[in-house]
Amino acid sequence: MQRGRRKPDWLKSRPPSGSRFTEIKSTLRDRDLHTVCEEANCPNMGECWSGEDGPGTATFMLMGDRCSRGCNFCDVETGGMEPLDPDEPANVADAVAEIGLDYVVLTSVDRDDLADGGSAHFAETIREIKRRDPEILVETLIPDFGGDPEAIDRIIDAGPDVIAHNVETVERLQWPVRDRRANYEQSLAVLDRVDRESDIHTKTSLMLGVGEYDHEVYRTLGDLREVGVDVVTFGQYLRPSRSHLDVFEYVHPDVFETWRAVAEAEFDFLYCASGPMVRSSYKAGELFVEALLR
Ligand code: SF4
Ligand code: SF4
Repeated sequence: MQRGRRKPDWLKSRPPSGSRFTEIKSTLRDRDLHTVCEEANCPNMGECWSGEDGPGTATFMLMGDRCSRGCNFCDVETGGMEPLDPDEPANVADAVAEIGLDYVVLTSVDRDDLADGGSAHFAETIREIKRRDPEILVETLIPDFGGDPEAIDRIIDAGPDVIAHNVETVERLQWPVRDRRANYEQSLAVLDRVDRESDIHTKTSLMLGVGEYDHEVYRTLGDLREVGVDVVTFGQYLRPSRSHLDVFEYVHPDVFETWRAVAEAEFDFLYCASGPMVRSSYKAGELFVEALLR
C-alpha cells in the first residue's frame, strides 16, 4: 500500500500515438462521436485501440456527455441534459464498421430524465451494429435504469455478447463513492436479472483505493458469483480533479495480482482483469476471446 498524494511510478503511462490512433481519432471527430477512452484520457488507449495482440477495443459513450447523476469519482458533468440524437445509433454503427473494430464497448451516461432511462436508444445502437456485421462482439456497460426490469430486458433483447454493470466499490462505500440513487443491492439485482433471463455473459468492475478492506472485497466477490457474474475487473481509483473524492491509497500491483488469482481460482470467474491501470473495458475483446477459447 502507498498512502499520500504522489502517484507511484507504476501509474505512469506513455501517451498513445501511431497511425491507427490518428485514424480512429479522425473518424470519431468526423462523426462527432464520443469515446470514454478520450473523455477520460484513459491510459490504455494505445493498447486498446491498436488491438496488436487481439481484437481492438474502444468504448463509445452514448446519450450525450452530461449525466443526470453525480458520482463522486466521475468526471462527467451533472445536469443540463440534452435531447437524444436520433441519428446516434446509426452513426456509432457506421464508425465501428469504418474503423474496423472487432469488439466494441457501448456505455452511456445515466438518463434518469427519460421515461425508459434511454434503454430503447441503447438497444437500437446494439441492433444497428449487429445489423452491419453480426460477427462484431458487442459489450454493453449499462446504467442501473433505476432497477426497471423492462429497461434491462430491452438491452437483453437487442442481443449483445456481454452485459456489464459496475458495482464500483464494496457495499459500505457505495455512498460517498456513487450518487445516492445508486446502491449495491440494486446493482446486484441488475446483474442477477441478466443472468436469470439470458445466456449473455455478465461483468462488473470495482475500483480499489477508495478505503475498502480486504474482507469486504472478498465478500463482494462472493456476492457477485452468487448472482452469476462471469467476469470481474479491478483497477486503481484515480481522482479526476481536486473536487472529487480523495484517493485513500495507491494499491500495489502485487495486491491486484492477488485479487486476480483469488477471483479466478477461488471464485471461478471466467476471467479477472486486475491491475492499477485496468479499467472496465481494458483490452476487453482480447481477454474475452482468450477466456472463451480456454
Ligand atoms: Fe459518471 Fe456513470 Fe455516475 Fe453518471 S452515473 S456520474 S456517468 S459514473
Ligand atoms: Fe477505452 Fe476502456 Fe481501453 Fe480505456 S480501457 S482505452 S476506456 S476501451
